[in-house]
Amino acid sequence: MSGLAAGIRLAHYGKKVLVLEKHAIPGGLNSHFSKDGRRFDVGLHAMTNFVERKQRSAPLTKLLRQLRIPYDELDLVEQSYSAIDFPENKICFGNSFTMMSDEIAREFPSEVDGFMKLVEHVKTYDDVSLDAKYISAQEVVASFIQSKVLRDMIFCPVMYYGSAVEDDMDFSQFCIMFKSLYLEGFCRPRTGVRHLLRILRKKLLENGAEVRMKTGVKEILRHNNKAIGVQLENGETIHAQNVLSSAGYGETLEMLNDEVPAGVAGELSFVESILVLDTPVKDLGLDETIIFFNREEEFHYRKTTSPYSCKSGVICMPGNFNYDDEVEREGLVRFTSLANYYLWKEMDETTYRRTKEEFVKEQINTSGFGDKIRDRVVYTDAFTPLTVKKFTSHINGAIYGSPIKVKSGAFDTENLYLCGTDQGFLGIVGALLSGISISNKYLLL
Ligand SMILES: Cc1cc2nc3c(=O)[nH]c(=O)nc-3n(C[C@H](O)[C@H](O)[C@H](O)COP(=O)(O)OP(=O)(O)OC[C@H]3O[C@@H](n4cnc5c(N)ncnc54)[C@H](O)[C@@H]3O)c2cc1C
Repeated sequence: MSGLAAGIRLAHYGKKVLVLEKHAIPGGLNSHFSKDGRRFDVGLHAMTNFVERKQRSAPLTKLLRQLRIPYDELDLVEQSYSAIDFPENKICFGNSFTMMSDEIAREFPSEVDGFMKLVEHVKTYDDVSLDAKYISAQEVVASFIQSKVLRDMIFCPVMYYGSAVEDDMDFSQFCIMFKSLYLEGFCRPRTGVRHLLRILRKKLLENGAEVRMKTGVKEILRHNNKAIGVQLENGETIHAQNVLSSAGYGETLEMLNDEVPAGVAGELSFVESILVLDTPVKDLGLDETIIFFNREEEFHYRKTTSPYSCKSGVICMPGNFNYDDEVEREGLVRFTSLANYYLWKEMDETTYRRTKEEFVKEQINTSGFGDKIRDRVVYTDAFTPLTVKKFTSHINGAIYGSPIKVKSGAFDTENLYLCGTDQGFLGIVGALLSGISISNKYLLL
């Protein structure tokens, strides 16, 4: 996503742009595939950062202006509402912030003042400063909110949708995610991520960029500490004035044949399943668009010690966005759980297949509504950390890349820049913004 956005912006200003993508379809793991006659979105649960068109200074509307894409072209539909479901408490939230503040007032009356002060702090914090140092979000949030349960509930969606750090995150990233989830909200293009990718690709080509799919970069070439081009996996050499990498921090260092420093490789990965039901989920009494849940006393967001853990997770029901049309949609449920890349990597073929089947069953069992859906499943697909690795090329199948973000987007090597997840802007909207801002900062002076 970040590479596509950067390409659009640069080509628009007359730069000669070549986009290289290893796979046949763009989008990393936020892409789409067809299997057995069905079309699925892989990554997309929801786009964060939903705002109405009139909110001109919000990340979504700003990035659309920069890419010259009309707001209506995205054909966005909003979530119904989502929920954070913990053993003793449940908080619902929607695209209007009052739902969340009312729910917190109901479930945690003594925390309302602290929560509202946290919201003010988040709103005014300079979260896009490129030289800000790491500050523990857990520590900052604890200075506003006493209840560990409420803190865990606030962190659960924020971490699942954007933390590359175990059990904590940088406060800047917390602010970005908090705003994008709770103060703005969820939406999706009506027909899914393929629609967005189609728009981006069309724009790229209209602006005169060249796009080469199934073209992996093997090495970034340097001369006198300057990036001068790339060597492709097929042996071809391409010279360039500047190289912009969206492959990740450690991954880019690998392409330079530089050492990847300790701590750069991310370790947090997910397993995910997609279930097709024989009926729309609404007919089973399920109304939420997304449920973030935790079934333990304390919430932990860590690499698991077993191949996967369903003690917490995310459940997305893509049929429960507010579609204002009569199109009949299949009942779809998507489960996301934390996983351990190394344990999946060690498995032989038979264990891999069996463990895949096991986690889907366990995801259904821990969903809280297993009895409603277990017998209604007509089709299942699932992916593992190895799939994440295959489609994003992220070291260790790390879903949100490196825990160390390079906010400046600059490397020691001149004329080489980083955009995307490891520049520190996460999610679809974040990645698009990252591609735009790094292009503006270094290449469109
Ligand atoms: C499973 C999953 C679910 C997600 N769900 C959501 C969601 O619901 N909503 C949301 O907003 N965000 C979601 N995200 C996050 C979102 O997808 C990412 O934040 C965003 O797409 C990151 O974009 P990026 O530009 O950083 O790069 P990536 O998506 O990491 O893509 C990097 C691209 O570079 C290519 N590449 C890597 N190495 C090479 C090479 N050597 N040569 C050529 N090409 C190469 C890869 O093939 C890939 O296409 C999800 C992510 C994942 C993995």
